[in-house]
Amino acid sequence: LGIAVSALALSLVACGSGDNSNSAGSGSGGKKIALLLPESKTARYEALDRPLFTAALKAACADCELLYSNADQLADKQQQQAEAALTQGANVLVLDPVDGKAAAAVVASAKAQNVPVIAYDRFIEGANYYVSFENEAVGKLQAQTLVDTLKAAGKTSGNLAMINGAPTDPNAADFKKGAHSVIDSSGFKVAAEFDTPDWSPNKAQDWMEGQLSAIKNGLVGVYAANDGTAGGAIAALKGGGVKPLPPITGQDSELAAIQRIVAGDQTMTIYKAVKPQAEAAAKAAVALAGGGKADSTSDVKGVPSTILDPIAVTKANINDTVVKDGIYKVSDICTAS
Ligand code: BGC
Repeated sequence: LGIAVSALALSLVACGSGDNSNSAGSGSGGKKIALLLPESKTARYEALDRPLFTAALKAACADCELLYSNADQLADKQQQQAEAALTQGANVLVLDPVDGKAAAAVVASAKAQNVPVIAYDRFIEGANYYVSFENEAVGKLQAQTLVDTLKAAGKTSGNLAMINGAPTDPNAADFKKGAHSVIDSSGFKVAAEFDTPDWSPNKAQDWMEGQLSAIKNGLVGVYAANDGTAGGAIAALKGGGVKPLPPITGQDSELAAIQRIVAGDQTMTIYKAVKPQAEAAAKAAVALAGGGKADSTSDVKGVPSTILDPIAVTKANINDTVVKDGIYKVSDICTAS
C-alpha cells in the first residue's frame, strides 16, 4: 500500500495526543457490568469500543467487574452470551445487538431478573437507556459528501450503486433513510442497491462484482454505508478494472479507510467519537447497576438517551478529527499496513 506521506504532511501541523482523564466516582462497588458487542469484522469494536469502555468503566467504578463477549455477527450466539452474563450475576447489560428485534427477548429475560439493559449504539425497544449517534445524519453526511464531490468534478447526473448495512441492524435503516433523503433529489440515479447481510465486507464485494458488467459504464459513484463495505466495493472495482475509481463513501474512520482516503481510493468516512460514547455508556451502567438514574440529554421512543454528533472526514480534515483526538498518529496512517 503506497501511502503518499507528502499529501498528509501538507495538512498535518501537529499530532494530537488523546489523554484519558475521567473523573472517578463510586457507589456501585463490586457490581458486574456485561458488555456485549456484535461482531469483529468491523474494526471499531475490538480496537475502540472494548478498550475505551473498559477504561471508562474503571474510571467510573474502580472495583466493578467487566464481563465481556463478542457475538461474531450471530444473533443466537449473542442471546446465549447475554443469558450467560445474567447467570454469572451481571447487574446491568450493555448490549449492542446483532439483531435489534431479536434483542427484545434479551431485554425480557433481563427485566424478569431486574437487570437493566443499555442499548449500545443500536436501538433496542424497551431498553432502560440508549447511547448512540445521530444516525440519520450519518447517512445524510455520507450522501452529501458524495454528491458534492461529484458536482465539484462537474458531474450532475449518472448512476450510483448503494451498499447499505445489515437488515437486522436498526442503524442501517437510519443510514439508508438519511442517504436517500439527499440522493433522491440530487439528479443522480440509484442504479442498483443492496442490503449487506451481517455488514460482511466480502458479501459487499461479491455483490459489487456481480453488478459490474451491468452498471460499470454509467457508474459515477458508490455509496457504501461503512468502511468495511467500502473496502469490499473498492476491491471489486479494482478487480473489475474500473479506473479511475469513482467517489466512494464509508463510515467508522477505520485505519484502513483513513489510509485509503490519503491514497485517493476512498472519498470520505464518518468519525463517530467512540470515547464519549463509551464513557456515557459506562457512566449510565454504573448508575443503573447501583439502582440510580442515568443522566440523559434526549429521549428516543421513550428511552432516556445520549445522542452524539457524527462528523464527515475527508482528506482535508483528517488532522482536525481522528489525529487531533488521538485515535491515530500520523505514523500509524503513513505506515503501510
Ligand atoms: C454501527 C457502525 C458499524 C456497523 C457495522 C453499525 O450499527 O453504528 O459504526 O460500522 O454497525 O458493525
